[in-house]
Amino acid sequence: MKNDNCIFCKIANGEIPSKTLYEDEKYRVILDLGPAAKGHALILPKDHYANLYELPEEACGDVMKLAKKMAKHMTEKLHCDGFNLVQNNGECAGQTVFHFHMHLIPRYKEDGQNINWKPGNPSSEELEEVRKEICE
Ligand code: 5GP
Ligand code: ZN
Repeated sequence: MKNDNCIFCKIANGEIPSKTLYEDEKYRVILDLGPAAKGHALILPKDHYANLYELPEEACGDVMKLAKKMAKHMTEKLHCDGFNLVQNNGECAGQTVFHFHMHLIPRYKEDGQNINWKPGNPSSEELEEVRKEICE
């Protein structure tokens, strides 16, 4: 299932060249062209799913297992000090390419990056309202 207008479909399936770190029948892991830090990579399924909502459950498991394998290997090779997994869904969440991808971001003590948010400070009652909205 490919999408002819999708650049990540073309990259994942080898129609556009990429700096590939890993490839198997269903996935390709490539270096990001605009890295947040040295070694920033992306896990791409070869089939087209726009986002996490569309990704089949089985693929969710595959992606997480591959993320762990890559994180371990990249940490050994790059000697990074930490690691972020980032996965954006929807424009307001920072998604710019609408083909599911998982960011693998090696982190270094002095890398000057800031993958962060401004924490809120809700009361226990407010948290309970949110819990109810989600669970009831
Ligand atoms: P998003 O913002 O959708 O979560 O992440 C998209 C990522 O894809 C960005 O980090 C961006 O640098 C990367 N990117 C966009 N186009 C290309 C491309 O053609 N090749 C590669 N390797 N990375 C790309
Ligand atoms: Zn695609």
